[in-house]
Amino acid sequence: MSTSYRFMFRISILLSFLIILLLASCSRKSISSLQRRGVVVTQRQVTLRGEGSSLNNVQIQYLGCGGLYIRHAGQAIMIDPFFSHQPFMTIGRSMMLGGRIRSKPKHIAWARKRLYDSLGISAEDLSKETKAIFAAHGHYDHLMDVPYIHRYWLQGQAHVYANESAVNTCAGVISSDKLHSAEQLAAIREQPGKSVDLPGADGSVIKVYPLLAAHNPHMRNIKLFSGSVMRPPAHFNDPLDKTRVNDWLEGRTLSFLIDIEQNNSVVFRIFVQSSSCEFPDGLPPQELLSARPVDLAILGVASYQFSETSYPCQYLDRLQPRHLMFIHWEDFFRPYTRKPKSVMKNDIPRFFNEVLEKCKPAGYILPVPGVVINAEF
Ligand SMILES: [Zn+2]
Ligand SMILES: [Zn+2]
Repeated sequence: MSTSYRFMFRISILLSFLIILLLASCSRKSISSLQRRGVVVTQRQVTLRGEGSSLNNVQIQYLGCGGLYIRHAGQAIMIDPFFSHQPFMTIGRSMMLGGRIRSKPKHIAWARKRLYDSLGISAEDLSKETKAIFAAHGHYDHLMDVPYIHRYWLQGQAHVYANESAVNTCAGVISSDKLHSAEQLAAIREQPGKSVDLPGADGSVIKVYPLLAAHNPHMRNIKLFSGSVMRPPAHFNDPLDKTRVNDWLEGRTLSFLIDIEQNNSVVFRIFVQSSSCEFPDGLPPQELLSARPVDLAILGVASYQFSETSYPCQYLDRLQPRHLMFIHWEDFFRPYTRKPKSVMKNDIPRFFNEVLEKCKPAGYILPVPGVVINAEF
């Protein structure tokens, strides 16, 4: 390909991106617009009351995107923390023309303050209590901030669990004694896997079961950044090194079943699936599921329309969760310091008014990033 032809080719791709951007941005809805269309958006702390003595609680902050902070009895885990929004055009330029992206310390610091302020703890407590970070897959909006957070929030002390591709992506920035393959532990359909057990000071345990799941396409029949990273990228040796968006390949996507155990029995059970996918991918083996009901199911919304099976109704039917929460519903190209809008190219009112109507859950929580869910049991 001659240089001028290549230039024209790239310019035309960039122009197509601009057109897609213009069309896609029309589909984003503000919170008030969602509410006018009957979508209930949770903007303040919620308390879920259990049937027990309510002496115990689990606090969950929705961090935004697929991100969650889950804490119980002075210890905590993070899933998919991501705060370094990249404008849509930056991602387009990185994809097509090799432009670079990287974590944004100011935005991460803002999110850290939001987290410890809303939980009423100090920055030191936050770093002491966070024992592990789990990444559901290797895309930049799930993994890119993990190395920075691990080094600068958690002083490199926490353990990081991710799929094998993501382990390769991060091998130059997270020390090998702290970086683990969650994929090797994962349950695959009915084949049981192993859990990561994090024992707390009061004798309770946070037990995390990785489960092999999947990831819906981003557009009809088009999945971006699929495949796996086979060897550590030579240019990613510091959490703030610049990368291309194509460096953040998906690998094998995981869901998680998270049990809070006391005296060897499960007292609270959470299912987390940050990416929509095809039933029954990502579900826990029936043996595990029948041992105890799910107290809270947390499901991703983005790309729901590309499931051929009726997402999320079949999942809800199988899980029968007592409470239901949706994440990954807002526009992650937008800074988290601004009021959220719904994710591009996804008809969010339709999801709640038509798709979810088919299975009629008793209720749902659709939190804006930063909202804390306080579950008592
Ligand atoms: Zn993804
Ligand atoms: Zn995502």
